[in-house]
Amino acid sequence: MGFVEPCVKVAVLAPVRQLFDYLLPAGLSASARVGCRVRVPFGRGIRIGIIVALEAEPSTGAKLKPVIEVLDDEALVPPELMALARWASEYYCHPPGEVFATVFPLELRRGEQARDALEEAWSLTDEGAQQLVGEARIGPRQRQVLQLAVAAPLRASTVRDFPFDARRVVRELVGRQWLEVQRLSARRASTGAPEDFLDLNEAQAAAAAAVIAGLNKFSPTLLEGVTGSGKTEVYLHLARTLQASGHQTLVLIPEIGLSEQLVQRFQRRFGDAVALLHSELSDRERALIWERCRSGESGVLVGTRSALWTPLPRLGLIIVDEEHDASFKQQEGFRYSARDVAVMRARQAAIPVLLGSATPSLESEANVARGKYRRLRLPERAGGAVPPTLRGLDVRGLPLSGGLSDALCQAMDRTLARGEQVLLFLNRRGYAPVVLCHACGWIARCSRCDARLVLHREAGKLVCHHCDTTLVLARQPPRCCENPALITLGVGTEQLEEVLRVRFPGRRVLRVDRDSMRRKGQFEAACAAVRNGEVDILLGTQMLTKGHDFPLVTLVGVVDADSRLFATDFRAAERFAQLIMQVAGRAGRGSRPGQVLVQTHHPEHPMLQNVLAHDYPTFARMALDEREAAGLPPFEALAVLRAESTQAETPTQFLAALRRDLKPGLPAEVRLAGPVPATMERRAGKFRALLMLSAMRRSALARALHELLSLIDAAPLRNRVRWHLDIDPEEVG
Ligand code: ADP
Ligand code: ZN
Repeated sequence: MGFVEPCVKVAVLAPVRQLFDYLLPAGLSASARVGCRVRVPFGRGIRIGIIVALEAEPSTGAKLKPVIEVLDDEALVPPELMALARWASEYYCHPPGEVFATVFPLELRRGEQARDALEEAWSLTDEGAQQLVGEARIGPRQRQVLQLAVAAPLRASTVRDFPFDARRVVRELVGRQWLEVQRLSARRASTGAPEDFLDLNEAQAAAAAAVIAGLNKFSPTLLEGVTGSGKTEVYLHLARTLQASGHQTLVLIPEIGLSEQLVQRFQRRFGDAVALLHSELSDRERALIWERCRSGESGVLVGTRSALWTPLPRLGLIIVDEEHDASFKQQEGFRYSARDVAVMRARQAAIPVLLGSATPSLESEANVARGKYRRLRLPERAGGAVPPTLRGLDVRGLPLSGGLSDALCQAMDRTLARGEQVLLFLNRRGYAPVVLCHACGWIARCSRCDARLVLHREAGKLVCHHCDTTLVLARQPPRCCENPALITLGVGTEQLEEVLRVRFPGRRVLRVDRDSMRRKGQFEAACAAVRNGEVDILLGTQMLTKGHDFPLVTLVGVVDADSRLFATDFRAAERFAQLIMQVAGRAGRGSRPGQVLVQTHHPEHPMLQNVLAHDYPTFARMALDEREAAGLPPFEALAVLRAESTQAETPTQFLAALRRDLKPGLPAEVRLAGPVPATMERRAGKFRALLMLSAMRRSALARALHELLSLIDAAPLRNRVRWHLDIDPEEVG
């Protein structure tokens, strides 16, 4: 038997769909472990990768290249997270190296050291301490530096602020072994005394107890409760219980800007023990938090989607707040659902996972119906307020001003006269969605998309909401005809605000959308102003449906429900219901019940009727029946292959050829649909088409996708399109 050189299997951080074997030189084998990063030759360059397996023998006979360097002396990614990333790579048919690239903060992806994320500090050794007693022969600066290290380790940031070159002094002292090097996490401002926990009410206590009873095993739970029913308080209690037993809690939230109240409550209760991870942090801060979690220093991690991939060695519970929110699904690159992968993480780690929502996703509803998830309800709003009433407002044939009917305006008058607040929901930014020339019929369209340009009058621009193409009206006025006479059709939030100021003079109007809330903290301040009663009429987009409560609002007006009723996507009904319920849920607290008026031209529309019956569970049951009848998720597993190109025909040709080649070998249970052009065929200059694959059994779909990927590898047109696979897509358009 010949000598067998050891080798390792590596996921190279590159967009390639396979793992690679490398030889492990004898000098490196001592530190090489699964979960360590390595530097390896790859193509013509050198790349970072992660060891996913240690093998005594290479799996191919080919001559292997050796690993250049092992970057970590312990596994940077614990086995549990390694398994999760590999599972996700398979499940989402995504290159393993790109999945691992999601796991690592940028600095680690670049090969920098994890512990560099921690601040360097120096502590006094016993010998060093002796130098400070008596009259040892020691310079005044040395003494000064040593003295600073007496009470607590001396931090690099402190040393930097010295008037003399204290780094040099520190180096000397380290050389003499009077100081020794340490790593500390960066100093954070103390947040003062932690806030007290509230006593849970009966339903909250029952929910918390049910989760606690399932600790140390996989037990997925759906916590259903309207806004204000006390879900966050349950999360806080659970995190505290976990902390007391030495476990970490991971809390996933949809968007940082819209979840500020929740974040602040965690910070006030847990102080420095809570770490916060979101996309607005610098790379350095991300790396630091990652390291604090990995080292076990942070007991609670609150974060958006990508926080899911943080190593948490003592993880005991995962909470996903607003689990129905679409932002948990990444919409580019590695298209994963943080909610779904969170459930898998909990399963692999054998811990409970709690999914919270007022309007659960139909996926989770179906999992409850199948007995896979347990459902817990928080039936009441804290404070015992009654739920709002919902009513459709038939606006057919009625004069509308700025999109508002007289009936709605009168209801607003009555509400305002009682000193209560009104919230108007209109999910359309800008002044008007259509700009038309009255003289010649020209319509302002995006040159790069099949879309119309939206007038933003405040900014003096026409803007495409799909690719951000912008025409500055002062510089590029439309020259459609001899005498352009521009008029607008439709109403956006800017225009609604204008109309409100005229129709309700003296009332304090506040508009909340992405244009009016650009600066950091602005949205928070606006919400606080509303809660403090400094606003009479609040109007805005989707932003208003998330996160915040407005107890003084007693009337909610949905200005235009119709655009949603005829959306073609299979999730349209679910999204519409969630939206109405969420916006309704913001209103009415205490003794004043809320009222929701939904303006529509289609009061008899069944979807609207269902939603207005104001019972989300009933709606969900009916919607699930429809999905089942139509063979749609969550009853069938669905995947979409999308392709795009600057050439109009190429994406469809590419997909049609794949379909043709795929068909013969496909089991009957896998259904193919398409290729069809995307709902908006051209976007940002690219033509887009899609092919859908579905099957009752996920395993059958997975096999078909596997086959599809190998066909793509051999497809003649594959270099003339950009393509991606989207598993469990949010939408199929
Ligand atoms: P949700 O997360 O479901 O929107 P919250 O946990 O934010 O609900 O609770 C809504 C409001 O009720 C908050 O102001 C919270 O402080 C208060 N609250 C929640 N639970 C309790 C409780 N057990 N006792 C007193 N107040 C509570
Ligand atoms: Zn565009």
